[in-house]
Amino acid sequence: MKFSLKLLFSTMIVMALALGFSGFYFVNYVFETSLQREIGQALDESSILRFAFETAALNVPAKYSVLPDSTVEEIASNLEKSGRTSSRLVRIFGEDKQVLYASDGFMADEGLLMQTNGNMKSYRVINVDAKYYIHTCVILDTLDRILYLETMRNVTGVFTERALGFSLYRRVTFIMLFVGTVIMHLIASLLTKPIRLLTKATKQMAGGDYAYRAKKVSHDELGQLTTDFNEMANALEKNIAMLEEELEAREVFMGAFAHELKTPLTAIIGYADMLRSHKLDEEKSLMSANYIYTEGKRLEAMSLRLLDIIVTKRSEAELRQYSAEEIFTYLKEMYGDDRGMVFRFSYESGMIWAEVNLIKTVLVNLIDNACKASEVGSVVEVKGVNRENGYYFAVIDAGIGIPQEEQHKIVKAFYMVDKSRARSKNGAGLGLALCAEILEIHHSRLEIESEPNKGSCIGFLLPKKEVTYG
Ligand code: ADP
Repeated sequence: MKFSLKLLFSTMIVMALALGFSGFYFVNYVFETSLQREIGQALDESSILRFAFETAALNVPAKYSVLPDSTVEEIASNLEKSGRTSSRLVRIFGEDKQVLYASDGFMADEGLLMQTNGNMKSYRVINVDAKYYIHTCVILDTLDRILYLETMRNVTGVFTERALGFSLYRRVTFIMLFVGTVIMHLIASLLTKPIRLLTKATKQMAGGDYAYRAKKVSHDELGQLTTDFNEMANALEKNIAMLEEELEAREVFMGAFAHELKTPLTAIIGYADMLRSHKLDEEKSLMSANYIYTEGKRLEAMSLRLLDIIVTKRSEAELRQYSAEEIFTYLKEMYGDDRGMVFRFSYESGMIWAEVNLIKTVLVNLIDNACKASEVGSVVEVKGVNRENGYYFAVIDAGIGIPQEEQHKIVKAFYMVDKSRARSKNGAGLGLALCAEILEIHHSRLEIESEPNKGSCIGFLLPKKEVTYG
């Protein structure tokens, strides 16, 4: 069952109980009060009649020592007729409980008479012929006679009013419940709107629409829940996007990997097949063996690079302090002998936090790339400068440059701007991917500035200890 319906039904049950009990209590209270008033009046009337009877009995001529039955009858008849509206209902019993006088329609039984003794007044409420009466009985003490005076007061009106009250209240209760149901239905659907919107959002998201957000329509706990839900959805969307990106990158990587494997393997298989199926002269055999060797070497280098990338990805750098000078001394020694290029090293003395062998690998890769991109005899400059938040290295060349739209792609594994040119220079598009991984564990990244046919400046900043970069 819907939450709004549960809310509606429970409210209606509470309302029905409250209205029912309060109505019953109210009508009954009015009835009890009216009945008590009527009883009071009936008892007062009974007392008045007793007094009137005893006074009338005193006026009986002295010749009677005992009040005769005929006089009792006469006094009773007078009392009966002295009623203000209609005639009273009275009944007189003698000492032996024999009826001396009874008004027409006095139909009460003698039960009350049997209970009355001494000087007490007694009463009861009786139902005769679908009418209600207050039946009273009082003892008369006149001229040595003990008589019983009974009266009947019609109180059917009080009972009819009670029945009417109940019926009216029942109708009011039904109307109130109906109106209450309509109002409560509106309130319930208003109160549960945030829940409905949240449910809709959950369904949309489950259906793959991760950008869908629940609309916030209240500022209470449910509003807070909506805010929290949307925040959760934001985090979820971000994570899913990241996972999708990772998955895509993995697929691209696998595709490129398979492709890069295929090229040397095809050459190796082709030349090996030629060697085994044809009788080649010495020169051609040597050439084929040479191809197989170089392509095999390419494969070996590629697998080693890949291994390096995987190991670097999983490791954490153990950063130690080194002087920049130490690195530049190493580079100068490495690129000192004539490689057909002009190397210029300029650096400021300073300290770096790094795993020095890894940083050397990065710089060697950058310098190799600069050489590959440049004409023989060009200048390749390697710079080291102190910056506010760390030490900055840069390798600058005047080579072919990298188009703007390719610059962010070259750090991806197997990516080469010009594939045939890169392969001819023994490249496989893994060098910068390795550099990026190494810099990542140093909290750094490659900064590429390049213009086609003008040259490139590829650098990175090694942050000071505790300062992260990126
Ligand atoms: P490779 O093994 O091909 O050198 P890298 O990952 O080191 O692989 O570089 C990826 C690609 O980026 C290269 O193939 C090249 O096209 C481009 N590249 C890298 N450095 C430079 C540079 N200094 N000038 C021009 N292109 C460059």
